[in-house]
Amino acid sequence: MRGRVENLLEKIHSYNPKADLDMVRLAFEFAEHAHKGQMRSSGEPYIIHPLAAAEILADMKLPTNIIIAGLLHDVPEDTPVTIADIRKNFGDDVASMVSGITKLGKLKYRGVDRYIENLRKMFVAMASDVRVIMIKFADRIHNLETLGALPPNKQKRVAMESLEIYAPIANRLGMNEMRTRIEDLAFRYAMPKEYEWASSLASKAASAKERYIARIKSVIEKDLRDAHLPIVQIQGRVKHLYSLYQKLLKHERDIVQIHDLVALRVLMPSVGDCYAALGIIHQRWKPLSGRIKDYIAQPKPNGYKSLHTTVFCDEGEIVEFQIRTVEMHEEAERGIAAHWRYDEDGKQAQAALAAQLGWVKDLAENQRQIRDNDAYLESLETMKIDVFQNRIFVFTPKGDVIDLPEGATPVDFGYAIHTDIGNTCVGARVNDQIVSLDSPLHSGDYCEIIVDKNRKAPNPDWLTFIKTSHARSHIRTMAKSKLNKWLKDLSDAEDGEQKKYVPPSAKTARNPKSRKQKPSK
Ligand code: MN
Repeated sequence: MRGRVENLLEKIHSYNPKADLDMVRLAFEFAEHAHKGQMRSSGEPYIIHPLAAAEILADMKLPTNIIIAGLLHDVPEDTPVTIADIRKNFGDDVASMVSGITKLGKLKYRGVDRYIENLRKMFVAMASDVRVIMIKFADRIHNLETLGALPPNKQKRVAMESLEIYAPIANRLGMNEMRTRIEDLAFRYAMPKEYEWASSLASKAASAKERYIARIKSVIEKDLRDAHLPIVQIQGRVKHLYSLYQKLLKHERDIVQIHDLVALRVLMPSVGDCYAALGIIHQRWKPLSGRIKDYIAQPKPNGYKSLHTTVFCDEGEIVEFQIRTVEMHEEAERGIAAHWRYDEDGKQAQAALAAQLGWVKDLAENQRQIRDNDAYLESLETMKIDVFQNRIFVFTPKGDVIDLPEGATPVDFGYAIHTDIGNTCVGARVNDQIVSLDSPLHSGDYCEIIVDKNRKAPNPDWLTFIKTSHARSHIRTMAKSKLNKWLKDLSDAEDGEQKKYVPPSAKTARNPKSRKQKPSK
């Protein structure tokens, strides 16, 4: 155990020479003392678990305070030592992280509510301090690594929860390494038969393909050198098992149809070199049409940047290339955690989170505002939809990119641009074709919203097809205020004024085509 602690300290020192290693050692001893006599289900001393979590955090090259909080993360929940004791010994910052994890961990809901409630807690914790989520990831990874010691029903629950909650959040934070680790560990316990099937299929296919990829690598390496392009590194990367499995499900379980089982990753010093390398690759091999993706000019919503191309390669094989700079690679693997390198207190990372992921704050804010329980549960459902659906990019006529969930419609698009555009939209033109307001948009579409300034309110029928909670809440609010106004007008009329009132539903029925719901003056 001592040796393992020394290794941890060495690891921290290697990426952070200024780290206060004495404090880390102290935190270990504090935790070891607090957990004295406690055992894991595996029969090992409990301290192994927080130590392993701290190692995972150090692998992520995170600052010492996060690692210290990682060592202490189970102390207040499982031992007589309190948050106040931790504050006294390790200060406010560490204490507040540990208390964040403790709040997150106390959740013992059962049934459907459990999932949603867990999700909510994750978001609230993330919005207040994203570092808490990093510790939760490390905690979860070690629990997954040691899942074998638990009874099967518990294994399955923890594994499913990891796939459904933890992995998507890691993905949204751009933390690919964390996501793939969680997914592959959980996959085996969540779907044991499918795991066996996919892993035997993958190992056969990959070993055949790896030899081929090694050959292609030397071909392109020579081409790039001949063109005097400075290569940092070319590596073959094997698709991780769970994402391969998901792709297989989309392609009739036929591995022959998966072109990126093994891909070549080309790391270049600068953005210009990346585009130059793309050109060299296309000079040698013809690209498949529609498979060139420029995520440098148009990054994915989670910040992912890279050039992707799939080419008809030697001997009729199809090969994917991913070209990016070293910084892009670092960001792609570590995501939000990449911002911490020179940022001991995590302020920069939290700011980056806020900037990149305004939705986290929005969601947490929505949570606080909702008092009514039914509305609250419903908002959690839509929040789940917003965050975990795959995203598409749709362009405005000015060329701005709007990030929407899959299946979003022109109404969602309109509301995403501006509430007034959403409220007054009457039609849409997608790639120069007039389409109905409920037709799903696709990535890369150009969408133009046709508005009618005279339109007073959105159509409540839109609620049946829209996909974003943003649009939903605006339509609801407008519908409510319109109803109130109508009721008020009605009572004014009963007071003696001679006005004729047409209820919204009657108006819609009479004029279904325009769907305008202008109440008569
Ligand atoms: Mn733990």
